[in-house]
Amino acid sequence: MAIHENQSQPLPVIIVGGGMTGLSAAWELQQQGVPYVLLEASGLLGGKVETTITDDGFLVEKAADAFILGKPYAAQLAREVGLEAEAIHPREDTKKLYFLRGGRLMDFPGNLKMFVPLDDDSFRASGVLSPEGTERFLNEVNIPPRPATDEDESLASFVIRRFGEEALNFIVPIAAGIYVANPYELSMQAAFPQFLKMEQDYGSLIAGSRATPRASGPIFMSFKGGMGALPGAIASKLTGEVRLNTPVLRVHPDGVTIAGGEKVAGSAVILAVPAWYAAPMLSQGFPETAQLVGELRANSSVAVTLAYRREDIEFDMNMHGLLVDASEGIPLKAMTVHSAKLAGRAPVDHVLVRCFFVGLEPLDAYHEAVKEVERLLGAKDEPLEHWYGDWRGKNPAYQVGHLEQLQRIRDSLPDNVKIGGASFTGVGIPDCVNAGRSMAREVATVLAATGVPS
Ligand SMILES: Cc1cc2nc3c(=O)[nH]c(=O)nc-3n(C[C@H](O)[C@H](O)[C@H](O)COP(=O)(O)OP(=O)(O)OC[C@H]3O[C@@H](n4cnc5c(N)ncnc54)[C@H](O)[C@@H]3O)c2cc1C
Repeated sequence: MAIHENQSQPLPVIIVGGGMTGLSAAWELQQQGVPYVLLEASGLLGGKVETTITDDGFLVEKAADAFILGKPYAAQLAREVGLEAEAIHPREDTKKLYFLRGGRLMDFPGNLKMFVPLDDDSFRASGVLSPEGTERFLNEVNIPPRPATDEDESLASFVIRRFGEEALNFIVPIAAGIYVANPYELSMQAAFPQFLKMEQDYGSLIAGSRATPRASGPIFMSFKGGMGALPGAIASKLTGEVRLNTPVLRVHPDGVTIAGGEKVAGSAVILAVPAWYAAPMLSQGFPETAQLVGELRANSSVAVTLAYRREDIEFDMNMHGLLVDASEGIPLKAMTVHSAKLAGRAPVDHVLVRCFFVGLEPLDAYHEAVKEVERLLGAKDEPLEHWYGDWRGKNPAYQVGHLEQLQRIRDSLPDNVKIGGASFTGVGIPDCVNAGRSMAREVATVLAATGVPS
């Protein structure tokens, strides 16, 4: 089975989507000696990971600007494709962060592990919560753990239960930022299983965080030439067939149909596209899966990157950025100062700042970004340039019950059709790399078990 008609060549594994998930799957299949064809709808590989370097020296990221090292998969892949010497880390000398609360920029508390204070005094001194809210937050250490259960809960339910209602305003911008999530819908099991485990293991997050040593060394990594260096390096080392501008329309048990009607036969299919693209592709061959995948929700955001002359901003821009208290009631959710956070993102004496918004159209987001940089940071002039990232309907939502839904999706597919990536198994780049490689290994095992030669 699954051999070309002339029986001389094994059919390739078809990978749909050339973002970080699909590229990682291709790389892993290559390591396993399994032939593959990667089909990418657009003219570029990397998906959401894309870096633009302008003629006047700005390095602009479309989406990710760095990835976390706590999950080793992306750094490991970067080493394998020869990017070790290109690695950079967020600058320590500009590590300052601010918190916008009550219209005022205040210092972000120091000595935190994510959002958990490692000492009471610096958290009390920060003033990011009211005195009552602060004491309730620190009393988390005395709140008994929820009895062990398989039941999922939302981020809001978890935070309110452990840290008190007011804590949501502080924790949501930190914890839910990457998911652009509604905290009342975001699944703890899918997004933050480590906190559920810590609650069970140590009785409290404060106790657990203080008992476990902080990892030494950098926490995040990027590349001198921007995040686009990673898909670029993988792509340059792929020896299998890669077809750009090839949108897949349908997935079948024995291959895919691409735009124009051509059928590409395969021994297996790895679907590495977000849920909103995957559902229609599956609707004919796998209607039950299509229904389940179609039930996964996504949230909207818009990112606007602005370039300024340093002298046109009054504020000391030697900072990584700011987060906005969830109760501020403004569309701005966070700002990252790329020019200070990572080396080589802007020419000398220039500032590159990215503003994240929820609930705005791109043009309104641009006007709001200009207004907020003026209000909060004292910009005296218009930005020199700007770039949009339109992520409306493109942030996977990971609703409560997500892991069960994922299991149902997987159970509804045959062994030789896999689905994974940002909508399913973690949005961070390390998760996407792990998803791609894991799917490739699973497929290689299935093919070996069914006697398909590789
Ligand atoms: C604004 C923003 C900031 C982020 N910041 C970070 C960060 O700092 N750190 C971090 O770790 N993560 C970050 N992320 C998340 C991370 O970038 C993404 O989750 C990850 O890149 C997704 O990879 P993917 O391969 O699963 O999906 P995608 O990147 O979406 O790739 C899917 C690919 O499939 C292709 N495709 C779609 N339809 C078809 C079709 N019909 N046929 C063939 N191909 C198709 C697409 O063109 C695309 O290339 C951020 C995301 C956003 C939006």
